Amino acid sequence: MGDYFQTVVDRDATEAEAAPLAARVVAWLVAEGVIGPDRTEPALGRGPGYPPGPRVREVVDSSGWGEPWQGGPLHVDVTRTVFDAGQYADPSSARCPRCERDIAFHDRALQGIPGAWDPFSEAIEDWEAGVDALVRCAHCDASSPLVDWTGMGHCFAFGALGFTFWGWPDLTRSFLAEFDRRLDGHRTAVVSGKI
Ligand SMILES: [Zn+2]
Repeated sequence: MGDYFQTVVDRDATEAEAAPLAARVVAWLVAEGVIGPDRTEPALGRGPGYPPGPRVREVVDSSGWGEPWQGGPLHVDVTRTVFDAGQYADPSSARCPRCERDIAFHDRALQGIPGAWDPFSEAIEDWEAGVDALVRCAHCDASSPLVDWTGMGHCFAFGALGFTFWGWPDLTRSFLAEFDRRLDGHRTAVVSGKI
């Protein structure tokens, strides 16, 4: 299960806020025994991450996982990143933050709707380039920041701060709620998938 990952993405932190906020959250996770203090654990295609700590089992739901399981590293990103679910990043719809109606990307037969994704893929490119990334809603015609659209399930999230847990069973709701509080109550999203 080492290639399964979950990323807690802070949707509000600026790039200037990301590193100090990351340091505070890492200090909390170390103090709680959720991770070890030193980046000793190799991560896939990245620098080393933090190893699971002695209390890792208290923050995950490992029912359904064969024993013994061994969690992988926690990797922390502190730069503008498009977090996606890897090979399964194929959202069915997105919700306009203004009119709260859904833009569908697939029809009922799961066929892609031509052009529906285009405004989003253009905005993702803009967002990665660090410029204003707006998506115009086909329903209400309002243009809203890409980061304010919701409903892309666990497929995509956009932010300057992300915590990726490699090979851990699903994080519990109470742990995720505490995580949100530690991120100053910022809006968060959880992206999960496999690569
Ligand atoms: Zn709309």
